Amino acid sequence: MQTLVTGGKGFIGSHLIERLLNDGHEVVCLDLEEASNRNIECFLHNEGFVLVNRNIVSPFSVRNIKDILRDYEIDIVFHLAGLADIVPSIQNPTEYFATNVIGTLNILEAAREYGKLQKFIYTSSSSIYGIPEFFEIPTSEEIPIKPQYPYAETKYQGERWVSHYGQIYKLPTISLRLFNVYGPRSRTTGTYGAVFGTFLAQKINGKPFTVVGDGRQSRDFTFVTDVCDAFVRAAESKISGEVFNVGSGKPQTILRLVELLGGDIIHIPKRPGEPDKTCADILKIKNTLGWTPKVSFEEGVKIMLDNIDYWRNAPVWTPNSIWEATKDWFEFLGGKEGK
Ligand code: UDP
Repeated sequence: MQTLVTGGKGFIGSHLIERLLNDGHEVVCLDLEEASNRNIECFLHNEGFVLVNRNIVSPFSVRNIKDILRDYEIDIVFHLAGLADIVPSIQNPTEYFATNVIGTLNILEAAREYGKLQKFIYTSSSSIYGIPEFFEIPTSEEIPIKPQYPYAETKYQGERWVSHYGQIYKLPTISLRLFNVYGPRSRTTGTYGAVFGTFLAQKINGKPFTVVGDGRQSRDFTFVTDVCDAFVRAAESKISGEVFNVGSGKPQTILRLVELLGGDIIHIPKRPGEPDKTCADILKIKNTLGWTPKVSFEEGVKIMLDNIDYWRNAPVWTPNSIWEATKDWFEFLGGKEGK
């Protein structure tokens, strides 16, 4: 396959590129010029790999992306480019809208004009479910969508546009709703978020793990190579117009994570708008695409520890710096208690 991976310099994108190249596919990576090449440096001399530095939200994006699709005769687009994280999405909603919604629309539009795409895979997020009621756990694709903050809202709007291009223009699409992806090369810079990067940097620096609340909350942590396998299966399948959860289906508590990582803990306040538990219902993807997660939580955490050096220069968060970084989170999502 000739593939285009948008956001290929990022955490999940770089793993997907590795998987596609290993499977013998050709990969064009589309990302921002200013984004670091750290994650893709090892592919730069690979014959099957091309890097194209382009923005997906400029007045020329549709034309530029259409040229890329045509010049490289792309069969499959994996659209992973986007802005993540909660706090900056509260601070800059228009930027999130531009990148996550208009950026997605630009690629869809380029794909429509190109007319030869076999599949468009969209990276959606489990955050669009908001805070599911306890009877909605495990969470199937059918439950009502209730985004709690701009990031989640923009991921959902992107998903809706993907679906419309499927219905109206008959573009074959699949959206994958990812649950807490973790693995080597998860982001080390920028704003506070994603528990694995936070904890690993704390561990390297001998600082206590900043456990939110009592640490009994749980997340459906999903290992990145399993996620890449879901992307590949989605691309190869004849099915289109569907959304699938991608999760392990086995939530793990933060205390269990701490136990596996080993180290002291310090508690920080529970944050508003966060579910106590996330758990994907993965029946649909199992039955339809034949996908199952392979990497257990214990194996996944061990791989993280084996690669801990990657986080050596990552920011080390402390209760104080977390308090500073999450002020807007408490203020805007906290209702009265947040004030
Ligand atoms: N978490 C934590 N300490 C931190 C950061 C996160 O205990 O410093 C917990 C958080 O309460 C949540 C889990 O780790 O239950 C995953 O948090 P993350 O921000 O990675 O993902 P999300 O909450 O968006 O699912």
